[in-house]
Amino acid sequence: MKKWIVEAEHLTKIYQAGEVTVQALAGVDLHVAEGEFVAIIGKSGSGKSTLLHILGGLDVPTSGSVIVDGNDVAAMNHTQLALYRRRRVGFIFQQYNLIPELCVWDNVVFPLALDGASIDGAFVEELLTALHIDDKRQMMPSQLSGGEQQRVAVARALAMRPALILADEPTGNLDTITSHEVMGLIRTLSTKLGQTLIVVTHDLDIAQLADRIVEMRDGRILKGGVPDACE
Ligand code: ADP
Ligand code: MG
Repeated sequence: MKKWIVEAEHLTKIYQAGEVTVQALAGVDLHVAEGEFVAIIGKSGSGKSTLLHILGGLDVPTSGSVIVDGNDVAAMNHTQLALYRRRRVGFIFQQYNLIPELCVWDNVVFPLALDGASIDGAFVEELLTALHIDDKRQMMPSQLSGGEQQRVAVARALAMRPALILADEPTGNLDTITSHEVMGLIRTLSTKLGQTLIVVTHDLDIAQLADRIVEMRDGRILKGGVPDACE
């Protein structure tokens, strides 16, 4: 029997921008098992980022439920969501969002410090070594290549040991070779740490690395969003 880390049921999201109403999600059901790697593909505007944001507590659904690792995310208030985002999920975005004034090491431990969490220096070292950036720890983001900056962002996302890693076009700004290298590292680390990984990508080579590919269209998952728990 699978243990579900993500159970999203009947999710809808309606954005109201002035007079215009956009239905970004039109009833999404998605279950993801512990340790699974799921790739989400689909055309621009199909709702991929909206879904990821809701799973990660960056946005709230209009209706439906989201249980992540036993937490009822859709029912959380602002304070609970802030803690959830910081402690339970690791985000990797297309933009690296590093703090330009902080060196590599400080960028990685910044969320831990913000949370008042004790910093497991040996674990951070291990992450930097696995990501081949241990010799860059004192460098500033502007001194790094795109691939190196994204690997710093990966280390930052993993430093809190979240159960769930959410990546939205994580290799969208990288060349093909670097993309595959960075994605391979994300995959290797998430497997080693027993984490569940959901990656939005338009790169079919990257999607092929996943245990399961789901395609979104017009705010829905076309098929395979909820596999049999006993498969
Ligand atoms: P994708 O990531 O698949 O490209 P998104 O989830 O970003 O798609 O967007 C889905 C739809 O929701 C699009 O039509 C988009 O314009 C709309 N949308 C996304 N975010 C907002 C927002 N904050 N306000 C209004 N509309 C939005
Ligand atoms: Mg998107």
